[in-house]
Amino acid sequence: MNHFTKGVNSMVQTRREFIKNASVSAVSLSLSRLSFDASAQSGGVAPATVEYGDWRDVYKNKWAWDKVVSSTHSCNCNHNCSWKLYVKEGIVWREEQNATYKHLHKGLADDNPQGCQKGAAFSNQMYSENRLRYPLKRVGERGSRNWKRVSWDEALTDIAKSTVEVVRDEGADRIIIPMATQGTAAKSRYANAIGGVVIEPYGDIGDAHNGASMTTGTLFHNATSDSRMMADCIIMWIYNPSSTRIADAHHLSEARYGGTTIVSVSPDQNPSHMHADYWVNPEPGTDHGMALAMAHIIVRDDLYDEGFLREQTDMPFLVRMDNKKFLRASDFEADGSDEVFYVWDRKTNKAVQPPGSMGSADKTLILGDTDPALEGKWQVNLASGESVEVTTVFELMKLSLAGNTPEYGEKVTGVGAKTLEKIAAIYANSETALIQCGWGMPKIYHGDLLQRAIFLLSALTGNTGKVGGGVFVGGIVESGSPITFPTKYFNGKHRVIPGATWLYVHGGLNKVSSRWTPVPGEKTADEYIMEGLEKGWMPIWPKPGEDPRILIECGSNLLRRTRMNHVLRENLWPKLKLVVTIDFHMSSSALESDYVLPAAGYYESSAIKYSDSASPYHVMRQQAVEPIAESRQEWWIFAELCKRIQKMAPGMGITQYEDKDLGLTRDLSDIYDVYTENGKYPEDVDTMEFVKLEMATSPAYKGIDFEEFRDKGQVNWVNEGGRRSPTSRATYEFTPGTPHADSSDQVSKKMPWFTLTGRTQFYLDHDWFLEFGEELPVYVPPPAMGGDHPFRLTCGHARWSIHSFMRDNELMLRLQRGEPIMYMNDEDAAERGIEDHEIVEVFNDVGSFKVHIKTTPLMQRYQLHSYHAWERYMFTGGHSHAAVQASQIKPLGMVGNYGHLKYSVGFYQPTNVDKGARADVRRLAG
Ligand code: SF4
Repeated sequence: MNHFTKGVNSMVQTRREFIKNASVSAVSLSLSRLSFDASAQSGGVAPATVEYGDWRDVYKNKWAWDKVVSSTHSCNCNHNCSWKLYVKEGIVWREEQNATYKHLHKGLADDNPQGCQKGAAFSNQMYSENRLRYPLKRVGERGSRNWKRVSWDEALTDIAKSTVEVVRDEGADRIIIPMATQGTAAKSRYANAIGGVVIEPYGDIGDAHNGASMTTGTLFHNATSDSRMMADCIIMWIYNPSSTRIADAHHLSEARYGGTTIVSVSPDQNPSHMHADYWVNPEPGTDHGMALAMAHIIVRDDLYDEGFLREQTDMPFLVRMDNKKFLRASDFEADGSDEVFYVWDRKTNKAVQPPGSMGSADKTLILGDTDPALEGKWQVNLASGESVEVTTVFELMKLSLAGNTPEYGEKVTGVGAKTLEKIAAIYANSETALIQCGWGMPKIYHGDLLQRAIFLLSALTGNTGKVGGGVFVGGIVESGSPITFPTKYFNGKHRVIPGATWLYVHGGLNKVSSRWTPVPGEKTADEYIMEGLEKGWMPIWPKPGEDPRILIECGSNLLRRTRMNHVLRENLWPKLKLVVTIDFHMSSSALESDYVLPAAGYYESSAIKYSDSASPYHVMRQQAVEPIAESRQEWWIFAELCKRIQKMAPGMGITQYEDKDLGLTRDLSDIYDVYTENGKYPEDVDTMEFVKLEMATSPAYKGIDFEEFRDKGQVNWVNEGGRRSPTSRATYEFTPGTPHADSSDQVSKKMPWFTLTGRTQFYLDHDWFLEFGEELPVYVPPPAMGGDHPFRLTCGHARWSIHSFMRDNELMLRLQRGEPIMYMNDEDAAERGIEDHEIVEVFNDVGSFKVHIKTTPLMQRYQLHSYHAWERYMFTGGHSHAAVQASQIKPLGMVGNYGHLKYSVGFYQPTNVDKGARADVRRLAG
């Protein structure tokens, strides 16, 4: 079935016809293909006759190739899989894993081969009927699916004209380009050249691990995947690697084979549980109740590591009992620092300043002669003349944890008290224990509290910094394209902004998403969020009250990925004068666009895929074939757009314009020159030039030979490259040939953490945290997002898609039910008379959608689970599961004026959530 073809007959084709019309070979690997010649397909030369003798030649020809190219997929799967692409007659016919990875660490399992079924099917996706091949212009209402083919010149000239008008009449900050995993460098460069707004996805899609950032100042905590084999206990917390990290999930099984105890924590029984020793299932959204009960048990039973707490955490830091604020140097001297703190030294029996905080000149965690007390209460005399009582964070933590008994944990999570005792004992008594956090964690409203509690478990037991231990969160990104900024505007200033608040203000999500959260005190959630914006804690453009005008979706897909995207469609789209989608497949956003422009796919341009420390290899994506039909590389598309803007702007009455917010003078009449660096990188540049440029400029590739890298497809990391770059605030020391530990910089080398106190910080004395009662990790029940309904929603990355572009792939759909489904407990279904695969309506206070129900005992009672990334057009009625994902921004993610709690790209920011939202189900029949 093709979902997009109303009005575009040419798109309704078989794969064979598709390839034929794409001006590449139209043959399949069968007898019939042997009557064609590759050059004839692409160059218009008359077909040659292929000589063959008998069936053996046919078979041999089937497995003969013109060339084999190493490449990969630049999607955000956090894997570095090198593939061999078999190319014949201008077509990529098949992929095969490139098993050339050098064994990293003797004694641990190697990484060969790396890959997943989506990678193996990408050539199928590349030539599928959903592949975009020609520029299309909407001819009916937006979303009517009536298109006409237009030339690139017509499309780009029209887009350029609208762009000049918007910049001239309303300002460049009305042009919006969401960040995504595709086409990043070209579109970011265009945005930086024109002064447009890039909305980043971390918080928008719910990937901002704020709990990690609150505690350690960074969300990048990871180590080589094989280091997990050195753990004695691994807790996979909301982590389902058998579905989501297929390329390296084997290290967990290998660890278990070697004796590691594996515990899986997740509400539903997911495919990873069969590889675990224990499965624990808190009710959705209540996991922090489990982590805090474990912390209670560890403290109660004196299983904590005092030395670690004294040196590496804020546990010995003194807190004033009168106002619950840290005791600071500014309390003793008028010009004292707000970023210098105190511990109580047991040797001298007085308050002393430990080194390593943000305000300290001494950038080390080494305590020297100081012997900080963890427990006690003391009086101190302040400069004001007051005498105040102070105590330690540890004392306050113990007091707070006193209520988190196993029995209380059972009450709030549904996990039995005895089970909590058992899991806590296994974890605390393991010599090396690891908690691996999944990307689902920040998608819980109180995911920050959960992650803070998890870091607390690791700190209490002294596991942080051990090889194979600690907490793994996110990935450590290494390198990135050097062409993101044009030289003329390379001043470090840009308009990359948090996505969640942008959608809240400009996407209309504020109309529905601020109603359920019980915020203590008098302020509503909306008041907190708007106050944070007004104070400039989170940047936003256009400013509230001014409307966005042009949306360019290049590889992004807001109408799929945004929770409550029907609200977005209703509120944002009418404000937009122009919506453009640049993609290689017809997405949910493309269907609602004015222009749809076909982009080249992964095998049709070259790049280096960013890598992360879990899989410490650099992988080169090499262009194997020319872009299909009239599709073009993103570099070409934006260069040609700039060319037209540069040409027409003077005649339309605008050249220079002041970008006052960023202190820049921009000029539309030189934008093509700026974009191409005065013709150095023209529209038809060979993208391999950018690979060479990246290797020449990034420290990550120092010492790596280009030709060896290109020929092999992948090379081992030789150093940690840019781990100290603004986009990679990592905490490890990398030594080739050694499995590294996360946080080794701090634990081994005694470098301060990236926090206000310079320690893993569990006490946050910001006013808002105190108002919320969340200065420490505590249990707070999840809000009833979506209204008062009996079911709780959960979601997760799917086994059959790496983000949305593979969600409707025919090979992937064949491996499941072939259409969207939602999982429901079989007893819940029976009570409601719902049969397996029956279509039901799922609804709550913000929306509804229709979906097939899959009945299963793998789900909890009153849980509804949908794997992610279904496109809207795959559902009857055009609404997906996102219609009921009643996301609520937690106001504490807005804080931006507190030491390490401030916005920077990819780090601390408000985040959208979905897990635990409420909904109900009704039958459509009977
Ligand atoms: S999609 Fe990602 S995980 Fe899958 S094969 Fe490609 S690079 Fe590997």
